[in-house]
Amino acid sequence: MIVVLKPNISKKDEAIVLKEIKKLGYQPHIMRGVQRTVIGAIGDERTHSSLEALTAFAGVESVMPVQKRYKLVSREAHQGNSTIKVGAEKTLIGGKKFQVMAGPCSVESESQLITTAKAVKAAGATILRGGAFKPRTSPYEFQGLGEKGLKMLAKARRETGLAIITELLSEEHAEMVAEYADILQIGARNAQNFQLLIAAAKTGKPVLLKRGLSMKVEEWLLAGEYVLANENPNLMFCERGIRTFETYTRNTLDLSTIPIIKKESHCPIVIDPSQGAGRADLVMAMCKGAVAMGADALLIEVHPNPSQALSDAAQQVTLEGFATLMEELKPFIAAAGRE
Ligand code: PEP
Ligand code: MN
Repeated sequence: MIVVLKPNISKKDEAIVLKEIKKLGYQPHIMRGVQRTVIGAIGDERTHSSLEALTAFAGVESVMPVQKRYKLVSREAHQGNSTIKVGAEKTLIGGKKFQVMAGPCSVESESQLITTAKAVKAAGATILRGGAFKPRTSPYEFQGLGEKGLKMLAKARRETGLAIITELLSEEHAEMVAEYADILQIGARNAQNFQLLIAAAKTGKPVLLKRGLSMKVEEWLLAGEYVLANENPNLMFCERGIRTFETYTRNTLDLSTIPIIKKESHCPIVIDPSQGAGRADLVMAMCKGAVAMGADALLIEVHPNPSQALSDAAQQVTLEGFATLMEELKPFIAAAGRE
């Protein structure tokens, strides 16, 4: 930590500040300039108490951290990029092969799911998405099929070999959802539900952590830290757009988080262009952008009949649209050095 003292600090107040720094376990190093004095407080900020309380001390101008608050998700903690093995096929996320997760927003029926699963597999997806527990804004909207939906996902996996990603909405369902899923999705609305993150981590299944609706990158990384700190190394971040003033899109897909997460963390980064814009007509362009910028995978909503979908009708692409998208993505995947 760097503690900047006010120019007029008294000797007595300076001594109080120094004493407090030592009391909290840091080694103070005083640097006296012409105008003012700065104290470098040496010690691991992540294991010692924060010195932020010093800002309230007489004669202290500011306190600045020099270390990051997250450690296990950070690049310092892990050499190279983490890769995550998913499902029986051991599909690798974060490796050379670019991965596409695709499927309906919600599991609605067996035929809807199996039709979609077969189509997305034929087009090149390796993981099937589908929500069985849905976090709907209104309690009067379709809430998902629950365990019945999970059983349909398991059937789709048996029939196609695709791994399954589905949302875990509440702690009480952690064990049950983990029995069916190959990846547990933590939704934007639960991104800082720390007890849920811990419960998800403890199942041992890979966790995909969406970015919260108004979540800063640091908060997102710290939420991810909960998964790694609970002995589950298989975490991937998923950018799905954030709330802004813009109304042409449902959310503003923040593609700058691809290089930011890559710089800060060893964990894979997945882009969800479907929640990202809320518009099917924008999905293709955002997928191309995400691939070009170095994302590790995409999470795309696909529905056999989007206009009839029970959730997120405006943003789901058709089966044909998805096949075209996968074809058009190929040169972008190659240009990004992926397969
Ligand atoms: C979804 O993937 O359908 C979903 C509800 O996502 P989010 O949590 O990002 O809104
Ligand atoms: Mn959705």
